[in-house]
Amino acid sequence: MQHVQDFENLIRTIPDYPKPGIMFRDITTLLADPKGLKKAIKHMAKPFEDEKVEAVAGIEARGFILGGAIADRLECGFIPIRKKGKLPWKTIGQEYTLEYGVDVIEVHEDAIAKGTRVLIVDDLIATGGTAEAAAKLVQRSGGTIVGATFIVDLPDLGGMQRLSDLGVVSHALVS
Ligand code: 5GP
Repeated sequence: MQHVQDFENLIRTIPDYPKPGIMFRDITTLLADPKGLKKAIKHMAKPFEDEKVEAVAGIEARGFILGGAIADRLECGFIPIRKKGKLPWKTIGQEYTLEYGVDVIEVHEDAIAKGTRVLIVDDLIATGGTAEAAAKLVQRSGGTIVGATFIVDLPDLGGMQRLSDLGVVSHALVS
């Protein structure tokens, strides 16, 4: 795992957000830094540059910001994976478990053609529940997952291991 100190310095940790006891990693400070943003996009894309990525699937909402830029860098298309009820056309949905209850993310049913080589992008992986649901959406659509790329991995929460158990190669800039 690569650990680039500069990225760590550009990420702000906010205690007790969104609720008491949570240390929220705020990447808006990294996004606002011109050199930091450019470098983050470059390093998130780098491990997948020779993997013939055909589409980036970005997870709402911070995965959209990063995913669009990574798609441009890899010269491929972008597919939004959104919270339930936000996409205008027919969708397929995937449930995932939260600390309390369940949530659903969706993708357009025709967004990923069979065999399309897809890279999953989000800002952070914690338990891996969200990324795993995104991976299942790609697989159920018939896509081939090339990998998953994040700015931050919180290794104690086991998300990367969960993706690895699914056979998904993942990468993070800070862990
Ligand atoms: P997981 O499903 O892996 O437990 O949680 C990851 C998802 O929640 C990602 O979509 C990520 O954007 C969001 N998330 C959870 N914790 C944090 C955090 O501390 N900082 C940021 N920026 N996003 C978080």
